[in-house]
Amino acid sequence: MLNIGCHLSSSKGYLAMGKAAVSINASTFQFFTRNPRGARAKALDPKDVSAFLEYAREHRIEKILAHAPYTLNAASADQGIRQFARNTMADDLERLEHTPGNCYNFHPGSHVGQGTETGISHIASMLNQLLRPDHTTTVLLETMAGKGSEIGREFEELREILDRVELSGHMGVCLDTCHVWDGGYDIAGHLDEVLNHFDHVIGLTRLKAVHLNDSQNPLGARKDRHAKIGRGHIGLEAMVRIVNHPALKHLPFYLETPNELDGYAQEILLLREHAG
Ligand code: FE
Ligand code: FE
Ligand code: ZN
Repeated sequence: MLNIGCHLSSSKGYLAMGKAAVSINASTFQFFTRNPRGARAKALDPKDVSAFLEYAREHRIEKILAHAPYTLNAASADQGIRQFARNTMADDLERLEHTPGNCYNFHPGSHVGQGTETGISHIASMLNQLLRPDHTTTVLLETMAGKGSEIGREFEELREILDRVELSGHMGVCLDTCHVWDGGYDIAGHLDEVLNHFDHVIGLTRLKAVHLNDSQNPLGARKDRHAKIGRGHIGLEAMVRIVNHPALKHLPFYLETPNELDGYAQEILLLREHAG
């Protein structure tokens, strides 16, 4: 059965997210670990966490996906900004051990003119300082649209980061359909070729999650503007092929489309109807 969910607000805690997910027939969900702009996280409420873990077992909520604040930049030229990214991620990884065995997704970062090579070495060095053998969370690099000086548009860049991380068994990749499309990978016209290329460069075993978004922009636009499923340039047919593709269908899919809860419910229903 299709394992699908959407991005939910974490402001009311874990149990509230679990209940919201179940209410829209989702089997998983994504959430920001804190305000997406990167402010301080609220203290974890152990009662909320244990109530959620029990609820998740009862309602068969699959692995969930935490998303780091998108303003973090581990590749920055500014040492203070890199330090902030490292501290925030260290705190996130600590907190996530209270809900063990899930995934944590982050945007690799922007090299802001230093060049991809320098950016990649900053990112890998942060990960090497943060990852510990006893962590149970899998850390995912998100494929990016390539706007500005974003690292992670080309699969090769992600491979390069993975290669430099010592505990790379703790790492994986999250494929964002809007981002790869905007980045120039034609997942609407040539899905098999794109996935073969991914397999060749990174390895499909590294792929742990999919952000399922349509795009407001044409192939290669490097813009990163998500559209509702079937309302963008990728289109419904391609979305359906993606959720049914033999290389992808076992993965969790997360909608990050411009919707409130009822809109997400409709998209989940639509995709479940089309899932083989
Ligand atoms: Fe993201
Ligand atoms: Fe995404
Ligand atoms: Zn995006």
